[in-house]
Amino acid sequence: MPVVSGRGAWLTGADGRQYLDLIASWWVITHGHAHPRVARAIARQAETLEQVIFAGFTHEPAVTLARELTALLPPGLGRLFFSDNGSTAVEVALKIACQYALNRGAPRTRFLAFEGGYHGDTFGAMAAGRSSGFFRAFESLMFAVDTLPFPATWEGDEAVGRREAESLVILDAHLERHGEHYAALLVEPLIQGAGGMRFCRPEFLAALAERLRSRDILLIFDEVMTGFGRTGAMFACDKAGVVPDLIALSKGLTAGFLPMAVTVCQERIYEAFLGEEFALALAHGHSFTANLLGCAAAVASLELFAEEGTLARVAAIEAIHRERLRGLQGHPLLRRPRVMGAVAALDLAVADGGYSAKVGPELKRFFLERGLLIRPLGNVVYLMPPYCLEAEALHRAWDGVEAALEWVGRRRE
Ligand SMILES: *Cc1c(COP(=O)(O)O)cnc(C)c1O
Repeated sequence: MPVVSGRGAWLTGADGRQYLDLIASWWVITHGHAHPRVARAIARQAETLEQVIFAGFTHEPAVTLARELTALLPPGLGRLFFSDNGSTAVEVALKIACQYALNRGAPRTRFLAFEGGYHGDTFGAMAAGRSSGFFRAFESLMFAVDTLPFPATWEGDEAVGRREAESLVILDAHLERHGEHYAALLVEPLIQGAGGMRFCRPEFLAALAERLRSRDILLIFDEVMTGFGRTGAMFACDKAGVVPDLIALSKGLTAGFLPMAVTVCQERIYEAFLGEEFALALAHGHSFTANLLGCAAAVASLELFAEEGTLARVAAIEAIHRERLRGLQGHPLLRRPRVMGAVAALDLAVADGGYSAKVGPELKRFFLERGLLIRPLGNVVYLMPPYCLEAEALHRAWDGVEAALEWVGRRRE
């Protein structure tokens, strides 16, 4: 479907029709499409300096972004590595974890991750997200990653404690067997995105962190989706009250304007890469590392968060999500309702669940015909609007979700 322009939460198709973007264009848009403030910052930067080598050179937009971003992150997460997409931010985190162990004289090459996790499409990210089933063609090329069940939870769930305990038992067994071979555990904190908008509790992340710390295994938070306000806090690690060793950020970093990513690590990790020998260095760099336009967009976006009270807007969206999901309570097709920050999700009780559920593409068409860009993940219907979305438009989206549930219900009869 050709799209020609966007403004706020709205997109205009080549057919002249308007569509409400309720998935933030694959989870990247934060303040809204074509936000004039970000657009101006990019234009001004483009007229000054568009790109410069970032090996042995630096520039003010990168320095400013590093300063402002690390001031927002939990203390200790103070060293940034720039790249240009979420997969690479994860890839870099895995490479740092691996080389960190090597640089300290005790190589570790195994990793831990979660069933249903998605971390991107490069080889390390694929290995960590292998259970998604997206990467079967490359199975034989992947390195060792042991997976744990993800203790997903939702409103009114009473068995989450048991699920968490089961996952931790499996973790303990892995640690018993391979404890000193694990470089890191990788997790999407609080919300697994592509795996179906599955939530977990902060308590679980805290339990993970505690077990890993005592064995010197690094904790990597993949906040490529959860970063920049999606969970209601600036970062999921804030909301969870758990400080990781490394964090991967991308999608919302530039407000969705430009491809850019950062991997942020703790000072002690950074220090393990310092020295006279080249072998100690992280020999990883990209042509467009710390692109100036991306940095300018990201700095403008962070300013907007402060000036526009963006997190209060997310809280207002969250309140409407909760109200409308309550209104659906008792609907025969509704399973596992859940809300966190700007994200609301529910599972449809259909016979063929999972990512390949036929109902997904059917619903996508149903929504598009009504001017709503909503793209279910199989049988999981979710909303993740840009934060500028007005209450009235959000209610319109929920009216569409209600109509969709009626439609699916009628077809089943
Ligand atoms: C989208 C996503 C990625 C990959 O980011 P790309 O920019 O698409 O490479 C990694 N991790 C998570 C959690 C994501 O949602």
